[in-house]
Order: sequence, then structure tokens, then C-alpha cells
Amino acid sequence: MEGKTVSTWAGTFSCTPELYFEPGSVDEIKQILESARKASKRVRMSGQFHSPSNIAMTDGYMINMKNFNHVIEVDKDKCQISVEGGCIMEDLNAKILPLYGMALSNLAAMSNITVAGAISTGTHGTGAKHGILATQVIQLELLTAQCEILRCSRMENEDLFRAALCSLGCLGVIVTVTIQCEPEFKLHKRQMSCTLDEVLDKLDNHVASSEFFQVTWFPHTEGAIMSQTDRTREPVMSSFNWFRDCFLSFYTLQFLYWLSSFLPGLIPSINRLFYKWCFTGCRDDIAMSHANFAISFRFKHDVTEWAIPRSHTAAVLRELKSWLAANKGVYVHIGVDLRFVQEDDIMLSPAYGRETCFINTVMNRPLGKFIPHDEFWSAFERIMCSVGGRPHWAKTHELTGSELKVAYPEFEAFCEIRQRLDPQGMFLNDYMERILPLVKGPVSPW
Ligand SMILES: Cc1cc2nc3c(=O)[nH]c(=O)nc-3n(C[C@H](O)[C@H](O)[C@H](O)COP(=O)(O)OP(=O)(O)OC[C@H]3O[C@@H](n4cnc5c(N)ncnc54)[C@H](O)[C@@H]3O)c2cc1C
Repeated sequence: MEGKTVSTWAGTFSCTPELYFEPGSVDEIKQILESARKASKRVRMSGQFHSPSNIAMTDGYMINMKNFNHVIEVDKDKCQISVEGGCIMEDLNAKILPLYGMALSNLAAMSNITVAGAISTGTHGTGAKHGILATQVIQLELLTAQCEILRCSRMENEDLFRAALCSLGCLGVIVTVTIQCEPEFKLHKRQMSCTLDEVLDKLDNHVASSEFFQVTWFPHTEGAIMSQTDRTREPVMSSFNWFRDCFLSFYTLQFLYWLSSFLPGLIPSINRLFYKWCFTGCRDDIAMSHANFAISFRFKHDVTEWAIPRSHTAAVLRELKSWLAANKGVYVHIGVDLRFVQEDDIMLSPAYGRETCFINTVMNRPLGKFIPHDEFWSAFERIMCSVGGRPHWAKTHELTGSELKVAYPEFEAFCEIRQRLDPQGMFLNDYMERILPLVKGPVSPW
């Protein structure tokens, strides 16, 4: 297709690729790559466009993977499933895996994303004994710029595997992914209101108190919510309340935030009011795991998220809180989420080599309206960087290759693999050019 404009889910970026494709077979992808090589065009793959940054944008050729949504193989004994890269997590979790009594061990808060898209950006959930989602992958197949299929796993092409598990879409097309699952299970989520200090004072105890622990702080208030989520065999139970969870927390909040775009000084009161209305006390929900991991995102929003060493979490949160208190006139929407992730050895994983806390902050777009947030986000980025923070690849950040090279011990190894697989730079785009220091000099072929 020519002239097709695509944009990110939140409307943060859009682009009109020179040619947009929805191939239906590997041979069709190969034809696209070959014609791109001959014409020196750039190629970018896309999934569900849920990355808020411009990581999935291009003015060259775009290959959307929506037709690559099939199951290739299921091994019930080993609890493993192989799927095509464009398979949507929501379908996998709610339709495909239940057929086999299987489930993924951990998920992000959003499942309307593709398997390949999720692993390409280091997508994560929470759980101090769980890695980012890509750590559940045991093998994948990559179609390179030379139209070669490379299979990699811990046993085969291990360095490539550690690069491809968070490839930012610049190593090739992820065609199939094999995932280690587990027998399906239910989760009991308890959400309790508390103060931020109560959480931070004993953070390590809280994180260890539950398999999937999470905290949300309401900026400009002392209030926070602790979510403790653990496995259970108890019957399904829901605390959903339409008035509170839809009317107040979406329609009313959206209207109030829209109003505050004219009177920003209202934001602290709105945050406080919303906390009181919707979160004071305790809530219990029991559901199948995928339903309890998911949150329904109704608000389009701008978001930045950083991965910091877990040991710095309390100090960083206190610094953020003091910065906001000292900078009257700077206002932030709810909420600031803390999620905890185990370290790994994936070259570009934000959790590489250290127990990690992911911290994000959002500015909603009430009734679609963009709300400026530069001042707080610059401070946020500076505070995160002061403790060695690494940005979420799919979300807003300003870092460039020289800074990222310092943040990631194997950054250069990743760049060399990229250069070897794609010396022409077919899979680069503007985002990649900003963040990757391109390797100089001759490189041996893969
Ligand atoms: C409301 C919302 C909630 C979110 N919640 C979370 C969360 O809880 N945790 C978290 O970590 N992130 C979260 N995210 C971010 C999201 O998980 C990532 O942006 C994810 O990459 C989106 O997947 P996608 O299929 O939309 O990929 P896209 O955004 O379309 O693409 C992402 C990247 O993957 C590459 N890519 C896609 N398919 C392929 C392929 N087959 N082969 C090679 N490269 C490919 C693209 O080139 C691009 O670089 C959220 C985003 C939104 C909008």
C-alpha cells in the first residue's frame, strides 16, 4: 500500500511509510527484503503500534506482522508453545493457551501487543523473581537482511539469542518464538491503600512479601496503593464496581483533568480526590492469571519509564517527591508505578545484570488533549540517570548512543552483531540512528 499513515496507540507519533506491507508468508517477507535491498530502502517491522516512542516508525518500507498470528507447535509435556511473531498476547493468553491448560508465568499490564513487539522492546511485568517477558522465550527464528533464517537459543547461537531477545527491531524479522509456559493458575490480587513512606520504609520486605508486587504513588499526595498478587486455588471473585471503576475513574477523571488543562493548579486536588474516591481501603480480586495481570487502559497518555538498580528505589522516590514539592507550578497526573524485575543477561535488557525497579510517570491526554510535561520529565530523567537509570526502549527518553554505551555493558557487542547481520543498515530508522553508535570499520560476515 502507498500513502498509508500509521500512528501509535496513544497518537504520540505517526508516519507514512513509502510502502506498507502485510505479508502472509515468509516468502513474501523475503521478496520485500530483497526489493528493499536492491532499492537501498529501509525496512521496519510493526506489531500493534503500542510503543509510545517512534521506535516502530519509518519513512521507508513497513512490514506489519498482523498475518503472522498462528500457532506453530505445542508441546504439552514440556509446557512450551511456538507461535509466529505477530501473535497477539491477548489471543495467546485468553484463547490459545487455555486450550492446553497452560499460561505464561508473567505478563505486562497490557496484552494487546504482539509477542515479537513485546520482546523487541524489553516489555516487562512485575515480580522480583521474574525477568522481563523475553526471559520466558527459549528459542526464536530471525529472518535477516540477507534473507537467511537464523535459529537461536541458549544452545544454538547463544550470543545472537541474547541480542535477539531485546533487538529493538534492528536485527531482522522475528518470525517464530518458542515460549516456556507453565500449567494455568489463578491469582489473588489485593490492593491496599497506604502512604508512600509506609512502602518505602520497608520496601525490601514488601517486595518479598508477594510474588508479583507493585506500588502506585499518587503525585502531590502522601497516598499510594500496594498491590500484592499471589497464586491461589480459591474461587474467582471480583471487586469490579462500574460506578467507581468506570464512571469515577474514567469519565469523571477525564473531565476533571481536561478542566485542569486550563487550571493546572487543580491537579493536586484531583489526584487527592481520586485517591479518596477510588482507592481508600482494600480490594480483592481472584481471576485466571492473565486477567489479573491486565489493566484496562482507557486513557491515551504520554509516558516515560526507567529501570534503576532496585537498591536505589526508596531514595529516588523521595527525591522525586521533594523535587515536586520544591517546584511549585509543576503538576503531574496519577500515577507513578513501581514494578520489580529480576536481573538477566539479555544484552539490551534494561534489567541486564541487576535487580531492577521500573519507575514510570504518565501525563494523560484528557479528551485527546496533549498536556505539556517537559519540566517534570527532564527532572525525572536526570534523577533516574543519576543512579544509572536505563530507559524503557518503547517509551519517551532523550538518551543517545554515547550515554547508552555507558549504561549497557554489552552495548558494543550488540552493535557488532547488528552490523554483522545488517551491514547496509536496512533495519534502521530515526530512533535507531539516535540510540545506536554505528560500528566503524570492516566486520566479518555472520
Ligand atoms: C497502554 C499501554 C500499556 C503498556 N504496558 C506496558 C507494560 O505493562 N510493560 C511494558 O514493559 N511495556 C508496556 N507497554 C509498552 C508495550 O509493551 C511495548 O511498546 C510493545 O513493544 C508493544 O508491542 P507492539 O506489538 O505494539 O509493537 P510495536 O510498537 O508495533 O513495535 C515495537 C518494536 O518491535 C519491533 N517489532 C515488531 N514486530 C517485530 C517482528 N516480528 N520482528 C522484529 N521486530 C518487530 C518494531 O520494529 C518496534 O521496534 C505499554 C504500552 C501501552 C500503550
